[in-house]
Amino acid sequence: MKLAARAGRITPSPTLAMAATAKAMAASGIDVADFSSGEPDFDTPEPVKAAAEAAIRAGFTKYTPSSGIDELRHAIIDKLQREQGLHYEKSQVLVSCGAKHSLYNLAEALLEAGDELIIPVPYWVSYADQTLLNDATPVFLQTREEDGYAIDAQEITRLVTPRTKAIIVNSPCNPTGATYNRATLEQLAELAVSRDLLLISDEIYEKVLYNGATHTSIASLGPEVAARTVVINGVSKAYAMTGWRIGYAAGPKDLLTAMANIQSQSTSNPCSISQKAAVVALREGDAFTKKMVSEFDRRRRVIVDRLNAMSGIRCPMPSGAFYAFPNVSGLLGRKSPTGTISTPTDLANYLLKEFQVAVVPGEPFGSNQHIRLSYATSLETIVRGMDRLDAAFKQLT
Ligand code: PMP
Ligand code: GLU
Repeated sequence: MKLAARAGRITPSPTLAMAATAKAMAASGIDVADFSSGEPDFDTPEPVKAAAEAAIRAGFTKYTPSSGIDELRHAIIDKLQREQGLHYEKSQVLVSCGAKHSLYNLAEALLEAGDELIIPVPYWVSYADQTLLNDATPVFLQTREEDGYAIDAQEITRLVTPRTKAIIVNSPCNPTGATYNRATLEQLAELAVSRDLLLISDEIYEKVLYNGATHTSIASLGPEVAARTVVINGVSKAYAMTGWRIGYAAGPKDLLTAMANIQSQSTSNPCSISQKAAVVALREGDAFTKKMVSEFDRRRRVIVDRLNAMSGIRCPMPSGAFYAFPNVSGLLGRKSPTGTISTPTDLANYLLKEFQVAVVPGEPFGSNQHIRLSYATSLETIVRGMDRLDAAFKQLT
């Protein structure tokens, strides 16, 4: 069958693919130390589950308005007002089936052939593929580990062309855990305003910050900036709700209307029951998030210390999200009993096959020197996994 060219431009999500492989191995009885999945190992908070149960019992199991129920859209509006001082009308807020779906609606509404989207590297896997699916071109901005993956506004300015539509701002960042300081956000905002570009601010890890840091949405830097920013967020990470599939976008009315129209002709509403649950998460979930993040903090220190103690590995301390992103270039070129490890993908395959440790290689994030390990997993798994990594790296000659 002759398929559409766009289908041939992308690969399956490599993070989801590695997570599925690790889960299948575990289901077949193999003892896997799984660092692949970007999802909290915590259970969804009880009051959130209770709201979903109540929704089922009350028969709240039918179609809802395609853009989401009023109660949830208002909970989102209140949250953005309360936390960031941002003001949105209901027509500027769209609830979708996860933040990934919010981003997809956005890409469909915004991009066409020849358009360019600037993506800082390393980047979350789906930004580039969703751009390609919509016939547009990802333009990559290299950032450097030694600068804490900071964005240089002058470098980004050099990448702007008449075809540039938007810039991705993902702070805290998956996979690096880096966060952008206020000066960087201000420079990006200035650029967006002066060149009339859209800022796509993916804030899904906004609550996973350490050392008392708090999140600033770039949209909060002023009305001119808010008018050019679409905030993307969801309940997956902050409230351990990855499977419920609720994300949202808030931004300029014309863009959000186009996204809502696309959603109404494609998926219709996100799950009615999950929407009821998400209202409770957004209104009452922050005490849960705080406890979860303090546990992530403990794990972050353990995993990063263990990684840095291994020869050939260098791992900065992430300031947000729940990923360690060690540089493994010191191991590349070494030999394992089964062959030469030339790339992070070779290393990830070696770790999975020979030591049953699941990590995601750096290539799909735009790096050929790193691997990504999620520490949203138990301390016990972290200790067991680090022991195996230690043994695996010592076998390389
Ligand atoms: N953005 C980033 C940076 C992510 O890591 C994820 C992970 N799933 C998403 C968006 C999408 O999250 P979800 O679709 O579960 O809301
Ligand atoms: N975002 C998570 C991750 O990076 C979940 C998988 C995905 O949606 O890509 O692992």
